Amino acid sequence: MHEMSIAMAVVTQVEEAARSGGATAVTSVRLQIGELAGVVPDALAFCFELACAGTVLEGAELVTEPVAARAHCGACTDDWAVGMPPRLVCPRCGRAAEVELRSGRELQILSVRWEDGPAHVPPAAAHAGNPAREPISEER
Ligand SMILES: [Zn+2]
Repeated sequence: MHEMSIAMAVVTQVEEAARSGGATAVTSVRLQIGELAGVVPDALAFCFELACAGTVLEGAELVTEPVAARAHCGACTDDWAVGMPPRLVCPRCGRAAEVELRSGRELQILSVRWEDGPAHVPPAAAHAGNPAREPISEER
């Protein structure tokens, strides 16, 4: 299942961050999920709970932050909400050749909160907002 591999990748990343931060129990994980990331939030929450069992994340809350998909047309510089199903043809000039997806495929850990401390940002999420950020890799 797609969501299970994502949940396991998130747990692995958070475990590493928690270990290096000396945390004893993770209380919540905030995750940014793009509209086009292909993730079903309910399924992910279910898988996350399973993946957390027996780890330092056991009982942690998963907070998901949806990101709307937006596209940009290089021909006429129009921007629009892609929606579902995704509309990747420019609504203004009707061209698709120069359409670029600006957001909507995000899948990354924004912050992790654990006991005895304020929010911690794992190294992988330290560049939030930077276009070159690393996506969560799925184990196949
Ligand atoms: Zn256009």
